[in-house]
Amino acid sequence: MRIRSQAFAALALTATAALALTGCVASAQSADGESGGSSSSDKPVVLTTFTVLADIAQNVAGEHLTVESITKIGAEIHGYEPTPRDIAKASDADLILDNGLHLELWFEKFVESVEVPHAVLSDGIDVLDITEDAYAGKPNPHAWMSPVNVQIYVDNIVTAFADLDPTHADDFRANGDAYKIELQEVQDELVDELSTLPSSQRALVSCEGAFSYLARDAGLTERYIWAVNAESQATPKQIAGTIEFVKSNQVPAVFCESTVSDKPMQQVVGATEAVFGGTLYVDSLSEADGPVPTYLDLIRYDAATIIDALKGSGK
Ligand SMILES: [Zn+2]
Repeated sequence: MRIRSQAFAALALTATAALALTGCVASAQSADGESGGSSSSDKPVVLTTFTVLADIAQNVAGEHLTVESITKIGAEIHGYEPTPRDIAKASDADLILDNGLHLELWFEKFVESVEVPHAVLSDGIDVLDITEDAYAGKPNPHAWMSPVNVQIYVDNIVTAFADLDPTHADDFRANGDAYKIELQEVQDELVDELSTLPSSQRALVSCEGAFSYLARDAGLTERYIWAVNAESQATPKQIAGTIEFVKSNQVPAVFCESTVSDKPMQQVVGATEAVFGGTLYVDSLSEADGPVPTYLDLIRYDAATIIDALKGSGK
């Protein structure tokens, strides 16, 4: 009996120690970025507005900065509503990176409430305007869907990081240069692969008008149900217009993006000869074990999905 109770006591002690340890880890994590207690939180903290920008920025930051996205994987980023926790987190950050071009409708108010410097990554790109709907004449914010534009994003990140942490400016520049070579490789692959599509199958039909830059680079005709996901309720007129386009151009496949419901596009599929070609990624990366954990994966995955589906012969 005595041995048993000793064993029990030892077990209880282990459990208490484990609990104490867990508590320790948890409190160290929650202090992250606030008090700078652990070695990782000594690094300057950079926040981005969404996951795609976080991955691009991480490639430039290397090990010198902590980079995190404000919005989570899969979040709707256009009309996002920041939480009090987001604001608290941003107040403790050293730099915030946003896309600009009115992508983040919530951002202007958000940065007003925190006194942290921010940099607009789309500055200097060749802007394409939205041509239809209520957004006609406004810039299309999805500039990162062209790896050529993202090379300019990288230049802007290098400049912002060099200001933030001048001792590592040379590393940021070297990281940026190496990443820009990868971006150009993906761009060349994308254009090469999409150029194999016959001219009759060069229409890219999606839920959101997010592919204007990619369509420009790859010589595709773009058609979408709605211009930006901030208003992702399709009107009957928008659906009818898309159905008409798919029928008259004999489009074999149509697509929808990961951050919205594909129901409106399934209506188009139901009313035409087109098949649903798959989910494309634009406004968010996937989880690490999903198909697009990085930006380069995202571009490669979308290009492959588009080519495979458009090369099929429809229903
Ligand atoms: Zn979008």
